[in-house]
Amino acid sequence: MKSKAYYSSALYDVARSINSSLELSEVLNLLAKSTAKATKSKACSLRLLNADKTLLVMGGAYGLSQGYLRKGNVEVEKSRIDQEALLGNTGIIPDATNDPRFQYPEEAKSESIRSILVIPLMLRDNPVGVMRLYTEDVREFGDAEIGFVTAIANLGAIAIQNAKLYEALKEELGDLTEDANEMADRLHESRLQLARQMNALSYEKNRLETILASMGEGVIVTDLDHRILLVNAAAEAMLDMNRQEAIGQDCDSTLPVKKAELEQILQAASDAKPSPPLVKKYRGKVMSILVNQIRDEDGQPFGVVSLFRDITEQAAIEGMKSEFISVVSHELRTPLTPIKGYIDLILEGDAGELTDEQSSYLKIVETNTDRLVALVNDLLDISRIEAGKIDLELKPVAVEDIVQEVVAVHRKQIEGRGLSLTLSLPPRLPLVKADRNRVTQVLNNLVSNACKYTPSGGITISAIPAGDFLEVTVSDTGVGLSRDDLKKLFTKFFRAKNPATSETGGTGLGLAITKSIIEKHQGEIWVKSRPGKGAAFHFTLPLVEPMPTVKRPKTALRRSTKSILVVDDEKDTARMIRRQLERAGYGVRLAHSGEEAIAQALKHRPDLISMDIQMPGMSGLKAIEILRANPQTTDIPIVVVSVVQDEEELSKLGVADILNKPIDEDGFLQVVERILWEGQRILIFASDPDTRQLLEEVLSHRGYHLIFTQDGLDLLVQARKEQPDLILMDLQLPDMDGYEVLRRLNRRPETVDIPVIAMTDSPNEPVSNVLAVGGNDLVRKPLDLEALVVEIERFIEGVTEKR
Ligand code: ADP
Repeated sequence: MKSKAYYSSALYDVARSINSSLELSEVLNLLAKSTAKATKSKACSLRLLNADKTLLVMGGAYGLSQGYLRKGNVEVEKSRIDQEALLGNTGIIPDATNDPRFQYPEEAKSESIRSILVIPLMLRDNPVGVMRLYTEDVREFGDAEIGFVTAIANLGAIAIQNAKLYEALKEELGDLTEDANEMADRLHESRLQLARQMNALSYEKNRLETILASMGEGVIVTDLDHRILLVNAAAEAMLDMNRQEAIGQDCDSTLPVKKAELEQILQAASDAKPSPPLVKKYRGKVMSILVNQIRDEDGQPFGVVSLFRDITEQAAIEGMKSEFISVVSHELRTPLTPIKGYIDLILEGDAGELTDEQSSYLKIVETNTDRLVALVNDLLDISRIEAGKIDLELKPVAVEDIVQEVVAVHRKQIEGRGLSLTLSLPPRLPLVKADRNRVTQVLNNLVSNACKYTPSGGITISAIPAGDFLEVTVSDTGVGLSRDDLKKLFTKFFRAKNPATSETGGTGLGLAITKSIIEKHQGEIWVKSRPGKGAAFHFTLPLVEPMPTVKRPKTALRRSTKSILVVDDEKDTARMIRRQLERAGYGVRLAHSGEEAIAQALKHRPDLISMDIQMPGMSGLKAIEILRANPQTTDIPIVVVSVVQDEEELSKLGVADILNKPIDEDGFLQVVERILWEGQRILIFASDPDTRQLLEEVLSHRGYHLIFTQDGLDLLVQARKEQPDLILMDLQLPDMDGYEVLRRLNRRPETVDIPVIAMTDSPNEPVSNVLAVGGNDLVRKPLDLEALVVEIERFIEGVTEKR
């Protein structure tokens, strides 16, 4: 019998030796051998329990004959001693040749086995197998020996566990390899696909290039910073430039159009009304340049395309024509002055008494001379305007003063025709930036026309601020204009074919001149009329100072991807609402009836609908009902903008809000924004109370839900909990470094996708630092709230900017 110390050192050797192998059967064989040797026993075996715990399968053995081993697996059910062991108990069979608990006494004899020690292989109280030690003589196993074998059994159990882990790992690795192979396959497939797409693309590209190259017009594409991206051959020749060198250049240094001009054109243009071509002299040529924004599928602008046409020849001919008209009119005007003067003298009796007949004839001559003078003046005017020879003297002007003046001139005529005159000029109208004489000319023309073409009834002149413009309206109850007439109105020499027109004198140049003058002021002119129902001429002039509305950024800066459908049969109202929404950056579509509204809503899925109720054909109410009933449109919020409304009915239909006509533009926009941005949540850390209050005012007002936090830690916790749509945070926090907060937000899967706008007091903090740790932007204090609102909207919409 060996000592404890002996077994300890033996155990140490065994433990060390099994470390060298990971193969389970090898380890178990080694354990069996070491155990048998150390205990001077005949043999040793380790059997493992199978998955359903019914069999003990040979795992490793030493000292047993092949014949004995071939007996195979032990059925747990049939072996009482093993059952005991599997319960965690050590068992001893003193003599295997005559012990009822041992199944194979005969084999024991032939194998010369006498005593057997049975030790469970336990892994954290769970049996995983059985270890047996066989001796040649009857042996009493001592405690040290049993302890040693038990320790070996434990090692065995751990080896089994390790091996199982290893197997699992191998399987996992196998899976991984499979995955990797599969991925490689897929990669290969997508490479092929990519190649095919590239082919198609390059075909498309070649086609486009061919088209561009063969175009007579010059095409230049610039990016949003107005750097040149593309120049076609015609542009290269026309602008006398080197295409290769021009790419990437700033347009200010290479093109006849300058950045500022482009910005202005793009800002003024809308979908409905593309900007008129810009005419420019450049290196001895005259060019007509059409500028258009290019947008992606989501309506986001990503560049500008400019189309250049060489109109040098055309311009020369036009110039000659204008020159001719100008010379002729001058030549005509010169003799007309004395003719008119002498007629006046004769009529006044300075050349002796006139008979009644003579005097009536001369009156006819006088009227016609006046008409001739007017015609010559108009001709001169239009030729000068067309030649670009009129320069406006822009000054702050009070339109109501001009209205009074013009009215005074026409009062006699108005009263003479028995017409009423109504002025609707609100007090303290803002001043416009305009050429006083030219505006007088415009109003003179419109009021004179209203008089001429209104046999009975009256004339109304009104003015009202509309956004950054003053809108002036001259309306009458006269003969009106047909649809066909309306199309040609404002063109040179156009006179409607109606008795009222043929009975009165006129050149058909007045409105053409008027339109040119208004457009030269960056204003607009339009008319609403129906035959027999009078006419209303509206025009706009820019205000000296835009009205102090809620401060809003410039259109170019602000682009929303939200689109709004404006439904109103009154084109004027629809236009007004459209202008307002477009200025705020929304995409706008118009519909003029209930049917149209439904069609548009289904086709374009607007984010909001502004709906008039009383419309010819299908009413707004019916349209709302239909939109609500259709699952495709039922969720689109609807704002009712109407004079007549049945509030109860409407609220049953679930409209988002109801506004009375005439609407207050600002109020309308507020309602729209509240609905559009309702429920978007912003998590905020702002250190000073002033900023907090400011944000509260500006953002809550727009419908955002704000969550204020105490410090960096609070912000991190809330961000995870609340999952806000955006985070707005000072970089200076009381408890943590702002960059650390950004880094942590960026690290966690729950917060990595939330856009973060950082705020700083420092003018020098580079934005790149914020971007580098996963922030989306940096804004500086004092906050430019307009820009901030735009930023927020942009990130919350998450169109392109999400990390
Ligand atoms: P003119 O009055 O000298 O003919 P305008 O250019 O001012 O020229 O007007 C062009 C035409 O438009 C007129 O001939 C007339 O037929 C029509 N028109 C202009 N104003 C009105 C109006 N207020 N009501 C009806 N028709 C009008």
